[in-house]
Amino acid sequence: MTPARAGATLATERYNGSQAFESGSPMLDHPYTNLAGGRWLRGNLHTHTTQSDGARSPQEVIDDYAGRGHGFLMLSDHDVYTSADTCARWDSRGMILIPGNEISAAGPHLLHVGADRRIDPHPLRQQVINDVLAARGFIIVNHPNWQERFDHCPLAAMREWVGYLGLEIYNGVIGRLHGSPYATNKWDMLLAEGRRLWGFANDDSHRDAADVGLGWNAAYVTDPTPAGVVDALRAGRFYASTGVDITAIDVDGTRIRIATGNARRIVALRETGRRFAVADDSSIEVEYPDDAAYVRFECWGDGERFAWTQPFHRRQA
Ligand SMILES: [Zn+2]
Ligand SMILES: [Zn+2]
Repeated sequence: MTPARAGATLATERYNGSQAFESGSPMLDHPYTNLAGGRWLRGNLHTHTTQSDGARSPQEVIDDYAGRGHGFLMLSDHDVYTSADTCARWDSRGMILIPGNEISAAGPHLLHVGADRRIDPHPLRQQVINDVLAARGFIIVNHPNWQERFDHCPLAAMREWVGYLGLEIYNGVIGRLHGSPYATNKWDMLLAEGRRLWGFANDDSHRDAADVGLGWNAAYVTDPTPAGVVDALRAGRFYASTGVDITAIDVDGTRIRIATGNARRIVALRETGRRFAVADDSSIEVEYPDDAAYVRFECWGDGERFAWTQPFHRRQA
């Protein structure tokens, strides 16, 4: 994968400590700045094993992901915490193993990424989020549109909670269950209301190889350690994918250009999920609309292959 790079103007101004952002000039706030000195790694944060209800042992699962070229992986068994010490028992096959688990009992499922301890699945999920904020790691809201009413995690709850980092806009296992694997509808509504949330794509693999490699997060990692991956994700330096590769993200003033290796169509969206530009091409260049609350891009490839950028915002004067 070719590294995406930020627009030279934006990166230079930010890293020279210039006052440009306070001058009221129309500049954009986004996570794809200063992408230098590292590399892109793909990883899945949502995986089950025989430690909970998964069919395969941790080592079998690790071997499968490593064989597909993943650079990082989190075993996220239901309320079973996989610590750094536990990870060290297995052969990582060169991957970075992230400690964590899926907080599952007694309420909507939350992913605790980069955990340093098991957090109790308190029925008040705001309590769980607060406990994570007081410890280490961050929270992702899982498969919000799972189940018959597409409502595993209701929008009302996501509006009420504060302190979570993002949500799964794609969850692979829901592709064979009730509801939808996608949750960009809830993402757009929350972004339109001013929330800053990152969109993640995860497998949630349980059974066999057919559950693996459906969705991943391509992160720009400068420190190839568990903490370094967690930092990159926390900063939003990643895009979510089910098979489209983003090869460049250029920002110059208020112009944004997105290039991919294999998209057929790229759609630029703003609130609330409204498409304001479409290119039937592998790249797109748009001007950030003056009055947009946010802008994000969906890159559509063949079959069910997509890539989703994180949102861009106009930097407030
Ligand atoms: Zn779950
Ligand atoms: Zn799960």
